[in-house]
Amino acid sequence: MTDALLAHCRAIVGDSHVLDDQAAMAPFLTDWRGRFTGRARAVVSPANADEVAAVVRACAGSRTPIVPQGGRTGLVLGSVPDASGAAIVLSLRRMNRVLAIDPANRTMTVEAGCILYDVQQAALEAGMLFPLSLAAEGSCTIGGNLATNAGGTAVLRYGNTRELCLGLEVVTARGEVWNGLRALRKDNTGYALRELFIGAEGTLGVITKAVLKLYPQPKAALTALVALESPRDALRLLGLLEERCGPVLTAFELMSEVCLQLVATHFPDLPRPFPVRHAQYALVELSSNESEELAEQLLESAIGAALDADIALDAVVATSVAQTLGLWQLREHIPLAQAAAGKNIKHDISLPVSRIPDFLDRTNAALLAAFPGCQLVTFGHLGDGNLHYNVAPPGGSGHDAFLANQAAVNRIVHDSVAQEGGSISAEHGIGALKRDELARYKSAVELDMMRAIKAALDPLGIMNPGKIL
Ligand SMILES: Cc1cc2nc3c(=O)[nH]c(=O)nc-3n(C[C@H](O)[C@H](O)[C@H](O)COP(=O)(O)OP(=O)(O)OC[C@H]3O[C@@H](n4cnc5c(N)ncnc54)[C@H](O)[C@@H]3O)c2cc1C
Repeated sequence: MTDALLAHCRAIVGDSHVLDDQAAMAPFLTDWRGRFTGRARAVVSPANADEVAAVVRACAGSRTPIVPQGGRTGLVLGSVPDASGAAIVLSLRRMNRVLAIDPANRTMTVEAGCILYDVQQAALEAGMLFPLSLAAEGSCTIGGNLATNAGGTAVLRYGNTRELCLGLEVVTARGEVWNGLRALRKDNTGYALRELFIGAEGTLGVITKAVLKLYPQPKAALTALVALESPRDALRLLGLLEERCGPVLTAFELMSEVCLQLVATHFPDLPRPFPVRHAQYALVELSSNESEELAEQLLESAIGAALDADIALDAVVATSVAQTLGLWQLREHIPLAQAAAGKNIKHDISLPVSRIPDFLDRTNAALLAAFPGCQLVTFGHLGDGNLHYNVAPPGGSGHDAFLANQAAVNRIVHDSVAQEGGSISAEHGIGALKRDELARYKSAVELDMMRAIKAALDPLGIMNPGKIL
């Protein structure tokens, strides 16, 4: 950053909100997984949209790249700058106020730097539910959730972040403030600009505020863990639950025995709900707006039907808050257990749910043929067709060396995904990590349209360059 730009930013946001000292900037430059550390000219933290707009205009004047940053929990290197040191990091952390709640319209207006957990709590205190839920909720921000169109564990019932947003305020790449903070469920007045900024990973503008949808607090939520022989049976169970429970079914997560063994190794205090091992498990949640009894009846009769039809092998229904937490902790500790075991090659893929069993049969076989004994750690939001399909080295050791196979492993997995009409990024986005993979799997027509949108909204190419495209 030239001295003049640095001085300009200080004049806009205040001296103490522009960091250019290496030690002070360090926490903003490394990605969540600790795989990459970039460099930046400065970290700038505005207090409101007008300050964001003034900083963007100042950067546009000197063609300085801007990397918007929320909680820095993104998993594809979207919110960290590259190694050139040319960019400023624009941190939204000071813009963290819940501005308004409209109970009758079931909406909430928040600043983009609000931590997701705080948004959930504010909704709860108002007697309502903001249903977005993911393991990073204590650190990630609503702006980051919107910019990545985050998914999480309740997509089956409530949809992705995109479905939970009615309006946005955005600072454009030209440094104008677009007030699209509409709290409307119907609004057919031309191009859906809001949709462009959601999922754009900060490449088109900076989200500064959002109007979010709220829902009634469910009266009861019931969780069960169901043991299964195969992903095919998991799919049959999903179909049965969808038929019998309809929208009451809020989550359907798949975990393999390999996942639970990893959790047992690294978190031995967590429960092992079944006396014997099974190949697969489905973590199921029903939530009812009527009563606990109704949810219980529905869940028990559906699981009974699954056992009678030989779809399920065994099942545990949580009967206390502690048991419910214990079952969810098994699921939430899988990424943590994997991290404790060492690095592995991760894929965040989605497929038509009907294609998942064939995809797994074919891809597992291809990987085991290419890398005999490799460990396949497969879990995820099966109800949404979204799998975290991770590959670790044989024998659970030599993780760093195994990463050298990343390109070959990606090719097997992503070619197989493409063959089934799936997506190479279900919910984490593209960032810098999957940019080359995107270029490989998207058609030229689609890439050209994306480039045209980027050029129209960010003609100077200063918004998070090198990410997505
Ligand atoms: C333990 C863990 C579990 C996770 N689980 C899930 C999950 O279940 N489902 C899921 O979808 N994701 C999950 N994620 C990844 C997920 O993308 C992020 O947690 C979250 O959505 C990012 O929010 P953030 O505030 O940390 O954004 P950051 O990491 O700071 O930024 C992410 C991207 O958004 C851009 N951005 C950030 N704020 C803004 C803004 N205000 N305006 C414009 N662009 C902006 C950044 O430039 C970057 O490209 C998980 C991550 C972790 C670490």
